[in-house]
Amino acid sequence: MRLANVSGRAAIVVDDGTIDLATATDGAFGPDLTEVIARIDDLRELAPSIEGPVEPHDPSRLGPPSPNPGQIIAIGMNYRAHAEEMGLELPSIPAAFAKFRSALGGPFGSIVLPSDDVDYEVEMVLIIGRRTEGVTVENAWSFVAGITAGQDLSERTVQMAAGRQFSLGKSYPGFASIGPWMSTIDEFADPDDVGLGCAVDGVTIQDARSSDMAFPVPELLVALTKVITLEPGDVLFTGSPAGVGMSFHPPRYLKPGQELDTWIESVGTMRHHLVAAPGR
Ligand code: ZN
Repeated sequence: MRLANVSGRAAIVVDDGTIDLATATDGAFGPDLTEVIARIDDLRELAPSIEGPVEPHDPSRLGPPSPNPGQIIAIGMNYRAHAEEMGLELPSIPAAFAKFRSALGGPFGSIVLPSDDVDYEVEMVLIIGRRTEGVTVENAWSFVAGITAGQDLSERTVQMAAGRQFSLGKSYPGFASIGPWMSTIDEFADPDDVGLGCAVDGVTIQDARSSDMAFPVPELLVALTKVITLEPGDVLFTGSPAGVGMSFHPPRYLKPGQELDTWIESVGTMRHHLVAAPGR
């Protein structure tokens, strides 16, 4: 099942468009997408029987597939090939940081580049489906409502300043863009081995599989939830594969006027138009 945020309302994604969930279920589910995410298992049982008017796809109406996460958490240095390109050792435990809530963005539209030092990072993003109590490696995926694509954008100068402040450098508006919708875990042949990538102006710049993660999703969730409790709708960026702009000499950062495509297998592709900050 694929679940979208269409103009702020929960919708089921079908081949040629979307079905408004509250309309199709007489209000049994939706329109509040966060509430639907918290009841994802019930909805998945009902989903095959849901019928309703199909609205054609309209990218301009799609919002982030978790519209109001209480927390946005991200993991640094979680792909072997990315650690290699950065010349850094893999950490012995997951390296976690927060992205601030105002950075959340949808799958289409413009993102302002505040400087010449903005970098891209395609990531597998998890949307949490239930409160994380008693997470083990064996049951970890059952806490995840779905997977979506994410761009963990970074302003590298701010990120590396003041002894490194990842959270601030990665939290300009739109720097936590997710979408185009979420796919439930049963949509994936193996959720621990999913292809993901991104392209600038049609040229692929990152292309990897999540099986290269140093800490696979179950291990990440076990480690994180020893400290924090995740709730339905919380968003977890699981780390960038190799190919980030900072790994090149000189760095290949994003430029105004470029189109940034970001995809994950069995979900779909986001497209963002990058624009200069006013006055730059
Ligand atoms: Zn990242």
